[in-house]
Amino acid sequence: MREDTRRWIEGDQARCWHPFTRQAEWCGRGHEPLVLVRGEGSWLWDSEGRRYLDGNSSIWTNIHGHAHPAINAAIQKQLGKVAHTSFLGFTHPLAAELAERLCGFFPAPTMERVFFSDDGSTAVECALKMALQFRLQTGQPTRNGFVAFANGYHGDTLGAASLGGVGRFFEHFRGMGYPVHHVGSMDELRNLPTENIAGVVIEPLIQGVNEMRPWPAGMLADLRKWCDATGVHLILDEVMTGFGRTGEMFACQRENVIPDFLCLAKGLTGGYLPLAATLTTGKIYDAFLGAADRAFYYGHSYTANPLGCAAALASLDVFETEKTLAHLPEKIARLASGLAALKSRHPLVHETRQCGFIAGIELRRPDGEKFPPGERFGEAVCLAARAHGLLTRPILDTIVLMPPLSTRLEEIDHAINALDLALGQ
Ligand SMILES: *Cc1c(COP(=O)(O)O)cnc(C)c1O
Repeated sequence: MREDTRRWIEGDQARCWHPFTRQAEWCGRGHEPLVLVRGEGSWLWDSEGRRYLDGNSSIWTNIHGHAHPAINAAIQKQLGKVAHTSFLGFTHPLAAELAERLCGFFPAPTMERVFFSDDGSTAVECALKMALQFRLQTGQPTRNGFVAFANGYHGDTLGAASLGGVGRFFEHFRGMGYPVHHVGSMDELRNLPTENIAGVVIEPLIQGVNEMRPWPAGMLADLRKWCDATGVHLILDEVMTGFGRTGEMFACQRENVIPDFLCLAKGLTGGYLPLAATLTTGKIYDAFLGAADRAFYYGHSYTANPLGCAAALASLDVFETEKTLAHLPEKIARLASGLAALKSRHPLVHETRQCGFIAGIELRRPDGEKFPPGERFGEAVCLAARAHGLLTRPILDTIVLMPPLSTRLEEIDHAINALDLALGQ
């Protein structure tokens, strides 16, 4: 190991604290974290000069590949002007342009306003608070509850975490956040009294942290109909599914659904900078007009960060110049045949799940039983795949495969091959 790699790892282990990480293990003898130092296209390099395919798009963020010349240039151009200015009391050119472009993905007059924040959790928090304040300002103060789906994930700030339905993520904080009803299906939802519900939150088409589990086709359209009938607002969390992952620009477009709130983050900047957006309708917005105390009481220091907006606009441009969505069907088909090959070759592959360019590969014992959780089999397979040039993380024993949308066909094959070799071991 190189001297500076050793030094970086020691420095990290001495002072850093990683998300969702057992620190004792991370800092323990025998664990050598990868130090990632460079990226280009779908590839990342570590400090020892080894190259890996970015199999989970750097935790579901990257869209057009790393160090994309157009996105880099856009960020650099803005950096030459100013890195950050306050959106509280001022505006800037790129925020106005980005808000217009985002609303433009939806038929007028539907999504009409964009509230910027920093990441997925804050995009969701913002939707919740907007939905609540809307009810207060429209004479419905008792409509202050939310419904979310079992096994959903909407972020880790306390409000977003209250919506979360994945036990191991949220059990420590149960009861300390906002009270939320969790339902498992549309049928359960239909049985709920609705007069006190402000909104229902869902990850459309596929639940990410729930081991990449797609919803039944048509469910989202049914949910929209239920919302229309009950007056409950539909809050779509497209933090993971947005920006082409499902094959559509936004997952809701697959079922022609227009939400009341749309939460975007991860892929918004192409995966370059933390920026989020909560889109909403003119009807919601109008309830915040008029007297001064109707202002929306919410904001963050880095709201509408200009570098983030520059990256986001450049990323939207790349969708056009590279015809990203038009090239996806072929890649989605290649991924599907790769998954089918893995399933046919390896008895440990219990099920593969795919939604567009997002895949989950669930591993179980050959008799169909789950591995004991303590065995951490998924992690072991990902570690083995790393030695074959693929970086990804499992969710329990489901291996996530969702490389950048720019990933080429032969790079998809490389990822499948790395998993094939890892499973063979
Ligand atoms: C990642 C994610 C979030 C949280 O986003 P952060 O940027 O990590 O705060 C929320 N919802 C979904 C569906 C996600 O995948």
